[in-house]
Amino acid sequence: MNLANCKLCGGMFSKSLSSYCPTCQSKLDDRYDEYREYVKNHPGCNMMEVANTTGIPINYVQQYIKDVFSPSLNRKKKSF
Ligand SMILES: [Zn+2]
Repeated sequence: MNLANCKLCGGMFSKSLSSYCPTCQSKLDDRYDEYREYVKNHPGCNMMEVANTTGIPINYVQQYIKDVFSPSLNRKKKSF
């Protein structure tokens, strides 16, 4: 079994396709749509602005930007 450190909380987890432990991955998944929506509507906004306006924790925003976060495929789809 391959162990890895979660890039968000630093906890150990058994390595999968993700760089995050299952807990952080699902938290990041939850907020990703919100983040993407905001950035789409506010091109050129900075991290602080996104975090302050949307309420998404700044460390989540950093992951989205730095690591080109990829949401997991099985995340629940929001109906529009
Ligand atoms: Zn984690």
